[in-house]
Amino acid sequence: MDLTAFHRWSIDDPESFWAEQAALIDWHQPFTRVLDHRHPPFARWFIDGQTNLCHNAIDRHLATQPDQPALIFVSTETGEERTYSFAQLHREVQRMAAIMLTLGVGRGDRVLIYLPMIPEAVFAMFACARIGAIHSVVFGGFASHSLATRIDDAEPVLVVSADAGSRGGKVVPYKPLLDEAIALAAHKPAAVLMVDRGLAAFDRVAGRDHGYAALRETHREAQVPVTWLESNEISYTLYTSGTTGKPKGVQRDVGGYAVALAASMKHIFCGKPGETYFCSSDIGWVVGHSYIVYGPLIAGMATILYEGTPVRPDAGILWKLVEQHRVSVMFSAPTAIRVLKKQDPAYLTRHDTSSLRALFLAGEPLDEPTARWIADGLGRPIIDNYWQTETGWPILTVAHGIDKTPTRFGSPGMPMYGFDVQLLHEQTGEAVGNNEKGVVAIAAPLPPGCLQTVWRDDERFVKTYFSSIPGRQVYSTFDWGIRDDDGYYFILGRTDDVINVAGHRLGTREIEESLSSHAAVAECAVVGVADSLKGQVAMAFVVLRDASAVDLPAERLRLEGELMATVDRRLGAVARPSRVHFVTVLPKTRSGKVLRRSIQALCEGRDPGDLTTIEDPAALDQVRAAVSPPPAAPRS
Ligand code: ATP
Ligand code: MG
Repeated sequence: MDLTAFHRWSIDDPESFWAEQAALIDWHQPFTRVLDHRHPPFARWFIDGQTNLCHNAIDRHLATQPDQPALIFVSTETGEERTYSFAQLHREVQRMAAIMLTLGVGRGDRVLIYLPMIPEAVFAMFACARIGAIHSVVFGGFASHSLATRIDDAEPVLVVSADAGSRGGKVVPYKPLLDEAIALAAHKPAAVLMVDRGLAAFDRVAGRDHGYAALRETHREAQVPVTWLESNEISYTLYTSGTTGKPKGVQRDVGGYAVALAASMKHIFCGKPGETYFCSSDIGWVVGHSYIVYGPLIAGMATILYEGTPVRPDAGILWKLVEQHRVSVMFSAPTAIRVLKKQDPAYLTRHDTSSLRALFLAGEPLDEPTARWIADGLGRPIIDNYWQTETGWPILTVAHGIDKTPTRFGSPGMPMYGFDVQLLHEQTGEAVGNNEKGVVAIAAPLPPGCLQTVWRDDERFVKTYFSSIPGRQVYSTFDWGIRDDDGYYFILGRTDDVINVAGHRLGTREIEESLSSHAAVAECAVVGVADSLKGQVAMAFVVLRDASAVDLPAERLRLEGELMATVDRRLGAVARPSRVHFVTVLPKTRSGKVLRRSIQALCEGRDPGDLTTIEDPAALDQVRAAVSPPPAAPRS
């Protein structure tokens, strides 16, 4: 069966399709129905089935591969390296689960995990899964305000945290931020479990704070049986990146998620038991949940948990890890590749990466020049994949476990099985034809693994996702896309990133793609800015591979002209940015997405909006400086 037929089957007969995929995991009790879609757009999968994510990721492998590596922890920040076999991971998770039970955590209770990329974070996630508690992982880079909002939203019984993380060789204390967040929050968690890495001293709140090391000792021989959960119970909540506004609390189930991940590991990532998977994301994001923690282990693979950046101790570190651990499947983000693009390309070939069957990239558009750069430099297949926190696994990509559909630079591929992807006209809701732009939408029911609802807010779920396209109760991704005659999709940007220049609708992504084709450009962002004459004009912000190339104003002008001419040539003068500004860093979310809405707001003299997820606030100052009129010359 080829991908088209496989996809057709999943849409025409989701029940038989997903019943077959469900056999990829263990069920304690079989489900009585595959799908309950009586209350659209809400979908429930594998009704009455009982299973457990921790059992499927760990326990079930004990019989066949207890001594195989399961979790490989590498920190280039602290120099630590530890490998846990499945049996060892099983022990640690039970000890963590026993601690949680002692601290009063029960089925359905929330546990907020605010930890750096250390093994205890993985233990804590699995411990929750094991006892039926709901985890809410908050990215370790967030400060007290973001953390406080999430504490109030999740109302956790327990917070698991650490003294500190480390980034770029600098210790980042966590505990003061946590204490501040709890002080700010209305909800007060009853207990805090502290992992002390010995990186930073911290204050303890008597009666509330507990030390992990001591409790772990008292639970040396802990045996905590798996709590079997009905498939539709909640496994976790997780926030979207906040690129377009206030982050949304995505709520996910147990059985559907386990099946979806197991299926994706087989059909899309093609990982085999005993092999090693390396995902360089962070457990604070959905990619980390699905493809650092749950997916690889469900598939019986070892997973690498990497604390560090792609450029320390040098820009070859990711490939060094591939070589050392014979990684067969790797997952990273275009933003990491763009970071490497500013470094010596020789790093790409310094290590033996021949074990790598494919490098998957997701999170932001993978422009063709960047895709080519990494594909040529590494000499390994690059596979773009498009999805969202909401969906939990890829919507668009290729599935080399099904057939060998070739990848195409600039395109994340084709609709994955289970996703009835439609391109719709934003105003009429009608399907658009090939080579016409439309909103990327998904007809209900969303397949297993996708969000069940917005945490504690069914109304927001329906209103936000299923009510934006007139006359159609379909899920909107809020991204623009286009399909070519061969069925390949291209993502053109967010629906709010389309600009209208004198009546021409342009995706900012297309303009960015042409700017990126210029050899001097490392990355760029284009936004639409209100213009009294043309409605909107495009404004570009460019990071050069070598910033010193524009030290002199005359050089800046020359390069700006050259870049404008590049856009003219590729897209036409109508798409030409009215200005090209040179900056050394773009404002991004902590998950590496360009905050175009904030850039646009500054260009239009407005407030940059919700900045709780921003990586480096100073990046906005550069934008602000670039677009504000130069100070008047002093009068003599
Ligand atoms: P928020 O929803 O809070 O504004 P966000 O959409 O950035 O934040 P995520 O769920 O982390 O939160 O990101 C999903 C979005 O990332 C997609 O909707 C899309 O815009 C973009 N994206 C992800 N992968 C790709 C890809 N391969 N190609 C193009 N865009 C991608
Ligand atoms: Mg989104």
